[in-house]
Amino acid sequence: MSETNMALIEKERTYLMVKPDGVKRGLTGEVITRIERCGLKIVALKMFWATREQINEHYPKDDAWLMRIGEKTKVNYDKYGLDIKTLGTEDNKEIGLMVRGWLLDYLTSAPMVKMVIEGPHAVDLVRKMAGNTIPAQAEMGTIRGDFSVDSAAFANRDKRAIFNVVHASETPEEAKHEIGFWFSPEEIFDFEKTDNSIYKVVA
Ligand code: GDP
Ligand code: MG
Repeated sequence: MSETNMALIEKERTYLMVKPDGVKRGLTGEVITRIERCGLKIVALKMFWATREQINEHYPKDDAWLMRIGEKTKVNYDKYGLDIKTLGTEDNKEIGLMVRGWLLDYLTSAPMVKMVIEGPHAVDLVRKMAGNTIPAQAEMGTIRGDFSVDSAAFANRDKRAIFNVVHASETPEEAKHEIGFWFSPEEIFDFEKTDNSIYKVVA
């Protein structure tokens, strides 16, 4: 692998947000501790109260994303014995749009804490720490597995998003969009962490 690729991996960045349920339950410190404990570097951090317009820009609007969320929601309706017809549509894209609306309500209901995290494979590592979207399927030891008992069944019945403590970028492309949207370059800091020697072999 080229030196350029290695440098890109070392400096990979991801975006994490402690969602309103996490902030209100006082889990911000716990989330930060887990990120720092694993050796990743927090390079930007801020508490804020998002507007609906901002959340609308944060989540993708393309058909593929809407269809994926719609399909996931439908699977959960089936799995938990709920009747999809109560949503008023069986169309994946329309269901996706509906969940997107629920997310706007949820993420504007209280302050959140946003951060940029840097380090080798930051996107995958932080996703692994966050755990599966649905708390019952998130492994113990993950943030969602350890701190949420919310259920897709209750969330769908109550026409709201699943409360799962954190948001974390799923891909480097998603991270690039989210970091660029939520932070200006001068709010992101460049500094050397003392424990970087863990992956730097000294000759
Ligand atoms: P994430 O990347 O793990 O957060 O999951 P997604 O990008 O697929 O979905 C975004 C957010 O929408 C999730 O974190 C949940 O809060 C919510 N959500 C996802 N799937 C469902 C669902 O099937 N039902 C409901 N009610 N909310 C969902
Ligand atoms: Mg996602």
